[in-house]
Amino acid sequence: MLKPASLEWREIPWERALSAARPDVAGPLEKALAGLDLGMEEGLTLAKVEGNDLLALVKVADEIRRRVVGDRITYVVNRNLNFTNVCIVGCAFCGFSRGPDSPDAYFHSTDTLVAKSVEAVELGATEVCIQGGLPKDLDGYYYVELLRAIKARLPDLHVHAYSPMEITYGVEKTRLPLREYMLMLKEAGLNSIPGTAAEILDDQVRKSLSPNKLKVRQWIEVVRMAHGLGIPSTSTMMYGHTELPEHWVRHMLLLREIQKETHGFTEFVPLGFIHSQTKLFQKGGARAGRSVHEDLIVHALARILLNGYIPNIQVSWVKLGFEESLACLEAGANDFGGTLMEESISKAAGANFGEYVSPGEFRAMIRTIGRIPAERATAYKIRRVFENPDAEERLPLERLPIFSSTASHATMPPTGY
Ligand code: SF4
Repeated sequence: MLKPASLEWREIPWERALSAARPDVAGPLEKALAGLDLGMEEGLTLAKVEGNDLLALVKVADEIRRRVVGDRITYVVNRNLNFTNVCIVGCAFCGFSRGPDSPDAYFHSTDTLVAKSVEAVELGATEVCIQGGLPKDLDGYYYVELLRAIKARLPDLHVHAYSPMEITYGVEKTRLPLREYMLMLKEAGLNSIPGTAAEILDDQVRKSLSPNKLKVRQWIEVVRMAHGLGIPSTSTMMYGHTELPEHWVRHMLLLREIQKETHGFTEFVPLGFIHSQTKLFQKGGARAGRSVHEDLIVHALARILLNGYIPNIQVSWVKLGFEESLACLEAGANDFGGTLMEESISKAAGANFGEYVSPGEFRAMIRTIGRIPAERATAYKIRRVFENPDAEERLPLERLPIFSSTASHATMPPTGY
């Protein structure tokens, strides 16, 4: 088997790869190339491919990506703001959360978060992504007040904030109806929400990962409500723990059904499970994270199953690292995610990546696979295309040193986020 993202891999035409696949794999791939929706059985066949069939899946996904979104690889300049790591939910896959009395528990003040937002904008960011733990005594109006404080200072900054889990917690705390609570968030300046806390959208799997987390029905209810109110969201899936290929397929088909109805998902982001510092793995409850084989299948499968509905497939570089991210960007994905500026949640769960990548570094990596870098806004409006590597004006951010892992308490969303 050829090494992903190698020159040999890249130079194999999709037609040749497809012709070498078994008929039961080639059939669904041809159907996907024709723009038709695949069903559960076809998806499951593709989710289990190996060898030449895997190569065909990856090459066809890459070809569909080229037809749908072209050769640009986008990224957003953003900053993660994780206001607290104190959380009562107790997800077994989370290496980030702390009890309130833990020596490394933190809760950033609103002033600090506003100052970090201002700094982010000064450094070229167009978005802040806000998520955090769920402390027991959190005021249900905290989420609204934080939005108001940031928007009062930075009315044009895109605020991408609060997972369906956090929104459900806010509803529980305030006892407001979901619609009313979300309208209040929108009026306070919420621009979009992360479709995180999805993990695997299967209540049996969720029970083993996190019995206290919101149910599939609740996750769907929040994203549908958000989309209905004109608040777009991302969509995610955590893989590489206890789930099986059929869970991937069912999860993606469920997202596709929601998207047909709401058109509110901006992208799909597969999130590889970072296992090493989690209870789930340490107690023998999960496999040791995702493999490269799974990375390729999940990203390619997403491109194929979501074809025509969710045009953007994002790699999570903090979970995958750069080599695998680039391989997945040649297997159907088209977005590199955010520069993040600082991140420690995946780090807390044992990831080796996840501090900060400058826009210039993103662009350089994108060019190594012969694609065109483009900076986007959160909802995929292109801000700038970098056709010519020699004609670039460097953003101020690029002159900064990469933050060290101990230099900041700021974090990115937990593993399942
Ligand atoms: S994943 Fe989120 S909700 Fe679950 S324990 Fe970690 S911080 Fe809390």
